[in-house]
Amino acid sequence: MAKKYRVFATCDIGESIELLRKRGYDVEIYPSPEPPPKNLIVSKLRSGIDGLITTLRDQVDAELLEAGKGTLKVVAQYAVGFDNINRADANRYRIPFTNTADVLTEATAEFAFFMMGDLARRLWSAEHLTRENKWGFWHPYLPFLGDEVTGKTIAIIGTGRIGLAMIKKSTGFDMNILCYDPAYQNHDYVKSIQEIKDLRYARGMTRERRWIRYSSLAAALSDADFVSVHVPLLREGESPTPTFHLFNESTFRKMKPAAYLVNTSRGPVIDEAALAKALRENWIAGAALDVYEREPLPADSPLRDPAIEDRCRLYPHFASAAKITRLSTDPEKGMAGRCVQGLIDVLEGNYNGDITQMPYVVNKEAFSK
Ligand code: NAD
Repeated sequence: MAKKYRVFATCDIGESIELLRKRGYDVEIYPSPEPPPKNLIVSKLRSGIDGLITTLRDQVDAELLEAGKGTLKVVAQYAVGFDNINRADANRYRIPFTNTADVLTEATAEFAFFMMGDLARRLWSAEHLTRENKWGFWHPYLPFLGDEVTGKTIAIIGTGRIGLAMIKKSTGFDMNILCYDPAYQNHDYVKSIQEIKDLRYARGMTRERRWIRYSSLAAALSDADFVSVHVPLLREGESPTPTFHLFNESTFRKMKPAAYLVNTSRGPVIDEAALAKALRENWIAGAALDVYEREPLPADSPLRDPAIEDRCRLYPHFASAAKITRLSTDPEKGMAGRCVQGLIDVLEGNYNGDITQMPYVVNKEAFSK
């Protein structure tokens, strides 16, 4: 039996908590579905917690890390994104934090793809028409038409894990693909995708030869029918190419009036006031969002304007919300399993206690000799 560690989880992550308890851990779960107030997390940490399980709803900063000083050994984040964790503070306090990359890649990309289809083919409006008994006749173009996705051009903004998975899914729909990423370019992947496109063309599965290439942001925005965003949230000073409000009045002006925007990355990547204006004034054809500048989406958000309702699809940060993705106890399949494994690795000193070798630790730089 492992040594007993004290863990506080800011939300319930399902069966994986039992795995910790079976190992002799003393785990306390914040009981309500809302995030705990920060001062409660502070008081838990002051009481001597070894491991803290967090979600993107919890701000992890110097105040928390100071409260855990001397006892806190790891923060295990139940998400791939970690913009709620102040990395510089974690490094200063020498607290490793883990994330749950990879296991939500395909789920998030497929949700982005479905959002794109919903938006372009106007599924929401079509279902409302049927349910509200306004479907009076079949007509060639009334009351509205949508746009096909197949064969169109998609811009992938950010070609990391989820961006590459979105490329794979877009390839199944014979889309042309423009990639933009100033920090990481996977040319081997792009070459393989081109080979698949060429094979589909050679075997007569598509009538036109489709293509994929890296491009500038300006070209990606001006030439794409769909723009799908897969970047981390990076504020000024956190990167030479920050992503905060990467989409603003000026970038929306560069898109085609017939183009659609899909965002499953992080809300503050988009200036929502500018987006609402772009939709109201028809600078772009539509947008589908899963993430927001403030979550949950405030009641008075301009994105709720009924005037843009038919062009603006809104989802509740739901892209990874599939059963196995969220809850599987298998670290190769589920966020819960991976979160708990990251915590165990640090607390039990796996990998000979070498934090730099632990696969789920993010801030390895603070521990290299
Ligand atoms: P990743 O780190 O693997 O990829 C992000 C890519 O963005 C990297 O290749 C990076 O070089 C690139 N990038 C950085 N700055 C850029 C810029 N200015 N312009 C263009 N590209 C830039 O991350 P990931 O795992 O693919 O996740 C992508 C995003 O999706 C993150 O923001 C993550 O938090 C979010 N996410 C959301 C959900 C959801 O439920 N909606 C689920 C999973 C992930």
